[in-house]
Amino acid sequence: MVKRKTVAVIGGGVSGLAAAKAFDERGHRVLGFERSHDFGGVWELSRSYPDVQTQSPKDLYCFTDHPMPDDYPEWPKGPQVHAYLHSYAAKHNLARLFKLNTNIKSMDRRAGGGWTLTIDEAGQVYTQDVDFVAVCTGQFSDKNIISHPGQDGFVKAGGEVMHSSEYTDASMVEGKRVVVLGGSKSATDIAVNAANNGARSVHWVYLEPVWRIPYFVGGINFKRLLYMRAQEQQFNTWGKSPLQRVVAAVLKPLVWANFRGLETLLKTQLGLKKYGMVPKIPIEKDVSCSVPIVTPGLFEGLKAGKIKNIEGTYDRYDGKTIHMTGGEKVEADVSILAVGWKLGVPYLPDEYQQKLVESDGQYRVYRISVNPDLPDMGFVGFNSSFCTVLSAEMIANWLVRYMDGQLERQPSEAEMTENIEMMLDWKRNERPAAQIYGGLCSAPFHFKHFDELLADMGATKRKRSNPLAEQFSYPNFAAYGEFLASTPQYQAG
Ligand SMILES: Cc1cc2nc3c(=O)[nH]c(=O)nc-3n(C[C@H](O)[C@H](O)[C@H](O)COP(=O)(O)OP(=O)(O)OC[C@H]3O[C@@H](n4cnc5c(N)ncnc54)[C@H](O)[C@@H]3O)c2cc1C
Repeated sequence: MVKRKTVAVIGGGVSGLAAAKAFDERGHRVLGFERSHDFGGVWELSRSYPDVQTQSPKDLYCFTDHPMPDDYPEWPKGPQVHAYLHSYAAKHNLARLFKLNTNIKSMDRRAGGGWTLTIDEAGQVYTQDVDFVAVCTGQFSDKNIISHPGQDGFVKAGGEVMHSSEYTDASMVEGKRVVVLGGSKSATDIAVNAANNGARSVHWVYLEPVWRIPYFVGGINFKRLLYMRAQEQQFNTWGKSPLQRVVAAVLKPLVWANFRGLETLLKTQLGLKKYGMVPKIPIEKDVSCSVPIVTPGLFEGLKAGKIKNIEGTYDRYDGKTIHMTGGEKVEADVSILAVGWKLGVPYLPDEYQQKLVESDGQYRVYRISVNPDLPDMGFVGFNSSFCTVLSAEMIANWLVRYMDGQLERQPSEAEMTENIEMMLDWKRNERPAAQIYGGLCSAPFHFKHFDELLADMGATKRKRSNPLAEQFSYPNFAAYGEFLASTPQYQAG
């Protein structure tokens, strides 16, 4: 009989909801903590910038048992995703498991196993012992704050500097000269939104051009082209057997031709050359969680001259002039820094942080979830992807079985360490793009990652019965529900 445990779920975004459901379903006592006043994480309304929408199509951004509503568009808007997450919480009665406005300040290892959490619940601080901690605090919780020489002078001269997450209302930029710094989708979303909502001028500054995928590539929804096993197998994956290496070498010219074809299509469709935006790195080496989707209106804005792009970064502010590293000077009233978030688990003691993160920032996590030197805890949602809701649900189901010793392939400490070292070596030497976000990204290897998790869990069904559909279509959320249901079931008690 599996013993019932008290499990802390830290965070109430996509991953926290997935974890709370998975642990609750197995009969564990779940204590969920969310520091904000509401569920949703990055989709919580006060944190979203205007016009935010998913990069993933709606049937690639949902839980296995809960499709997005039919009347949602293919790429739902932020408030729709927020409402969807609430409907998932309601469907599984998850709100009863969470305390909102409750911040985990620290977690300390207990001598007999488990952790003691120090909790700040709306100003009241207390401790709570738990047997296991599911860390679901995501990769977008603590703003990356940067500044450039002369910023104080810019502000004194009437300029305003803000992090992208603080751009919550287009009226902030009406009639103003705006500069957006950053190459991610949030940067282009904000640049387009500002340009379309009365900003006097918009400059968009990024370090270097990267491949951007439009929602429709050559008129076809990108999910039908880029998310399939057949495509995934063309990227250099980890753990190849000698035979797989030989096959890859034989097929190399075909793979090369496939990706050059894709690059040509993207260059032509988006007019990348005209805007000096042709990336230097071949697309097959670049694809990871950092590859952005093209914000609708971006290239139209560039064409119309409403958005001006500059390659480089800020060198300094001088009064209300921003000097760029390439020598350009731009007059600005508002400087929006879309420079991302600080990755980390700040409430974890230093000695454990050192065991978790290598000196080059790479995380030591088996299946992107657990570390043998950090007992009684695991991460949900650190396996981010292009379909993070499904990734979070998959790993949550894996983690509860791992905690209970119920994986069919329950790994030993030595196996986990060996696998972690193999993955680190692959990221550092074979696929540098996989080092993005501390190496915490399973894209573009969704199928392979899910295959491993399902095999670990002992799923008897891991692929759709139609081999063509399996090879040439995107991950199907409902099918993954069936695969999860085919794993051995049990209850703690
Ligand atoms: C604008 C935007 C668009 C995106 N679009 C897509 C997309 O289309 N497809 C895709 O796959 N992914 C997308 N992502 C990635 C997105 O982060 C994930 O899809 C997913 O929402 C992450 O959920 P999460 O629960 O892991 O993390 P988060 O949503 O960041 O939630 C973490 C939660 O933990 C809470 N928390 C943090 N620290 C503490 C603490 N100490 N105590 C208590 N609570 C704490 C936070 O308040 C937060 O609510 C997007 C991200 C952004 C920012």
